[in-house]
Amino acid sequence: MELTTSFDPEILGLPFYDDRHRRLADAIGTWCDGRTALWDEVRAEEPDKAGLRLVRQLGEDGWLAFLDPDSEPDARPGDYRTICLMREALAYAEDLADFAFSIQALAATPLIRFGNDEQKRHYLPHMAQGSLVGAFAVSEEQAGSDVTAVGLAAARTDDGGYVLNGHKAWIANGTLADVYVVIARTGEGPGPLGLTAFLVPADTPGVRVRDRLTPVAPRSFAHLAFEECRVPREAVLGKPGKGFVIAMDLLERFRMTVGAAALGFARRAADTALARARTRQVGGASLIDQQLAKVSLADMDVQLNAAALLVARAAWEADRGSPGFARHSNIAKLHATEEAQRIVDTAVQLLGASGVVKDSVTERLYRQIRSLRIYEGTSEVMRLTIAGTLDMRRADRAARAL
Ligand SMILES: Cc1cc2nc3c(=O)[nH]c(=O)nc-3n(C[C@H](O)[C@H](O)[C@H](O)COP(=O)(O)OP(=O)(O)OC[C@H]3O[C@@H](n4cnc5c(N)ncnc54)[C@H](O)[C@@H]3O)c2cc1C
Repeated sequence: MELTTSFDPEILGLPFYDDRHRRLADAIGTWCDGRTALWDEVRAEEPDKAGLRLVRQLGEDGWLAFLDPDSEPDARPGDYRTICLMREALAYAEDLADFAFSIQALAATPLIRFGNDEQKRHYLPHMAQGSLVGAFAVSEEQAGSDVTAVGLAAARTDDGGYVLNGHKAWIANGTLADVYVVIARTGEGPGPLGLTAFLVPADTPGVRVRDRLTPVAPRSFAHLAFEECRVPREAVLGKPGKGFVIAMDLLERFRMTVGAAALGFARRAADTALARARTRQVGGASLIDQQLAKVSLADMDVQLNAAALLVARAAWEADRGSPGFARHSNIAKLHATEEAQRIVDTAVQLLGASGVVKDSVTERLYRQIRSLRIYEGTSEVMRLTIAGTLDMRRADRAARAL
C-alpha cells in the first residue's frame, strides 16, 4: 500500500502539541493511507463532481464535525493546530481533499465566530455533515490584495433587508456552494468601515455564476454576479459595518493553515525526490551519493523543519489566545509557501524528465503549489504586513547602544 502519512513524528512530539493532536494526526494519516483508490478516482473526475464527493465523504467520516461545536461538544472549533494538521495530511495525500476540507472550514468559521444562534442552527449541522457546501467571497477584480476596495453594493430596502448588486471574483467552490459568505459595501463609514458580511444562499434569485474558471490545479473556481439580489436583514452575519473585521479575523486565522497545506505538498515532493535519488543510478553511483544531490536534499530537509516549526508556533499562539498570533500566522504562511515552491521545484529537478510527465506526483505538485503564494494574502502583502509589526523597541535599544 502507498503510504501517504505525512507527519514528522519528532515535530509532533514537541510541546506545541498535546496527545489529542497526536491521536488526531495518527487517525487522519491512517484515513488518508486507506483512500488511495478514492484519490485516483477523484483525480479522474470533473472538478465539481470530485469536490462535492470529497466534502460529502469528509463529512460522512466525521472530519468536519468540529464545524458544528454545539453538536460536537468535545471538538474545539478554535483549535488551529487541529486544522493545520488536517490540512498537512490531506495536502500530502491529495490536493482536492485539502481543498474540499479547507474551503468548507473557511466558510463555516465566520459563522462559528460571528453567527447568531439561529444562523448557526440553520447552517452548521449541515456543513459539518458535508451535506451543505460553503464558500467565502470577498475578492473582486478590483479588490484582491486591497480588501478595503470591495465595491459590491448592498443597499438597504424599505423592509429592512438589503439588495446586492455587483461581482465577486476568484471564488473557490463558487460553482458548487449552497451558501456564500459575501462581504459587501453597506456604507456605514469610509473604506473598511463600510463593509458588512452576508449569508447568501446560492439559490437566491439574482445570484449566478458569471464565469467558470479553470486554474492550473483544477477545482471549482468562479466569478459570481449579484443582480438585484434581495436578502432579508437576518442574512447579516455579525453587525452591519463589521464586514472588514470579519474578513480579517478569518484570513489571519487561515493563513497559517495555508502554510500547513504547503508543508504537506512540500513533504510529498521531498519524499518523492528522496525515493528517486536512492534508486536512480548516474555515473555509476546512486544519485543520492552525488554531492550536489545531497546539498539539494539537505536544503529541503532544513526548509521542511523551519516551515513545520513556524506553522506549529503560529497555531499554538492562536490556540492560546495570544494577541500577536496574526503576525506568526503571516510569517508561517509566507515562509512555508515560498519554501514549498522551492522544494517542489527542486524535486522536479532531481527527478529529471520523469518529473515533468503529466499526472506524475511531481507534475501535479508543481501545479498545485503555485496559488498558495497568492490566495489569502500574497507573499508581497505578507511581507508588508510583517514589516508593519516589527518591534521598534529593539530599534530603540540598538540606537541607545550606538
Ligand atoms: C486558487 C485561488 C483561490 C482563491 N479563492 C478565493 C476565495 O475563495 N474567495 C475569495 O474571496 N478570493 C479568493 N481568491 C482570490 C485571492 O484572495 C486574490 O487573488 C488575492 O488576494 C490577490 O488579489 P489579486 O489576484 O487581485 O492580485 P492583486 O491584488 O492585483 O496583486 C497582484 C500583484 O501585485 C502585488 N501587490 C498588491 N498590492 C501590493 C502592494 N501594496 N505592494 C506591493 N505589491 C503589491 C501582489 O503581491 C501581486 O504580486 C483566490 C485566488 C486563487 C488564486
